[in-house]
Amino acid sequence: MKCPHCGDANSRVVDTRSTGDGIRRRRECETCHKRFTTYEHVAASLLIVKSDGRREPYDRQKLMHGILIACAKRPIPQVSIEAMVDSVEEELAALGRTEVKSNYVGSLVLEHLRQLDPMAYIRFAMVYLQMSDLEVVQQHIGRILPPA
Ligand SMILES: [Zn+2]
Repeated sequence: MKCPHCGDANSRVVDTRSTGDGIRRRRECETCHKRFTTYEHVAASLLIVKSDGRREPYDRQKLMHGILIACAKRPIPQVSIEAMVDSVEEELAALGRTEVKSNYVGSLVLEHLRQLDPMAYIRFAMVYLQMSDLEVVQQHIGRILPPA
């Protein structure tokens, strides 16, 4: 388990609990001493089905990377992003599925981002959902902004 903060592979488990379909572990990095959460079921066996039908193992780092790009230069604390990814993973684990479509994962993230930061929400929607259609972008903007 690599630390999401510094990338070090050594961590110790500070708390373990089961969540319906998986095991949630709270870990502390032995290098930077920051804490992070891992979900063994999600990490170990969930496959993400991409839009072209290819499947790849769920990758927290990859999801986090996409979110960080969307949140670049926005006033969003790193802990909020971590907590958001934790929630998304909890929601994925709660499905009890072995495969989930990538755009479903995207929609979970969007629901959280919508509450967190409108600009990051739009950026993530455009990249993750590959929104090339301006009308779709506009619909998304319409969802987060009150009518003028
Ligand atoms: Zn670390």
